[in-house]
This record gives sequence, C-alpha cells and structure tokens, in this order.
Amino acid sequence: MEDCIFCKIVAGEIPADKVYEDDAVVAFRDLKPQAPIHLLVIPRKHIATLNDLTPEDEALVGRMYRAARAIAVDLDVAESGYRTVVNCNKAAGQVVFHVHMHFLAGRRMGWPPG
Ligand code: 5GP
Ligand code: ZN
Repeated sequence: MEDCIFCKIVAGEIPADKVYEDDAVVAFRDLKPQAPIHLLVIPRKHIATLNDLTPEDEALVGRMYRAARAIAVDLDVAESGYRTVVNCNKAAGQVVFHVHMHFLAGRRMGWPPG
C-alpha cells in the first residue's frame, strides 16, 4: 500500500527498531513510547483497521497474538504482565491506518485506560 508508513517499515524502506519478525508479522519499538517497553506488532499485509478484517485474516490475527506471546517471553515480561491494545478509528485514537497491536510493559498499567 503506497503512502502507508507501516508498509514502508515492513518493506525496509524506512528504518525501525525491529524486535521480532516472521513470515506474517513484524514488531518494532514505538517512536514515542508510552511505557518502558512499547512495541507495535503489525501484520505484513496491509489492513487499514480492525473493521477491515475478513474471515481470511482470522489466522493472521492469531499470529499477531502468538508473536506478542513470544515477545513477552523473550523480554521476560510474560509473568510480570503486559498489555495489548488495538485502537480502531478516530474515537479510539487510531492515527496510523495499518492494523497494529500496541504491546506495553515495564510499568503498572492503569485501568480504565485513557
Ligand atoms: P495509533 O494511535 O494509530 O494506535 O498508534 C500509532 C503509533 O505509531 C503511535 O504510538 C506512534 O507513536 C507510532 N508511530 C507513528 N509513526 C511511527 C514511525 O514512523 N515509527 C515508529 N516506530 N512508530 C511510529
Ligand atoms: Zn500498510
């Protein structure tokens, strides 16, 4: 997808601090971290929002969660805890329209979220 910043990160056209990648998913550090560990877990495939998921993307969503789980073990936060968040559209604060899971850890998370 042209002009999608996350597609460009997937393609290696703009740099990112990648911490994980496989054939379906890439994870990299957020440019403006909101926690000591703040990663974005994204599918290689361009999907604009959660609303745009189709039945054929079901396995891909599972792959995103599997990647998060593996990252949590790797970064040693699986037991202490971490939060995954997907913002969808304006009211939720989505600003990049390529589906991404925020992976947050390394501090106590408040609830309800802001
Ligand atoms: P959203 O608000 O859409 O859920 O989250 C988008 C996230 O992407 C934000 O946390 C923002 O800091 C991050 N972000 C935006 N542009 C870039 C970029 O070019 N590189 C990286 N690593 N993160 C980005
Ligand atoms: Zn994209």
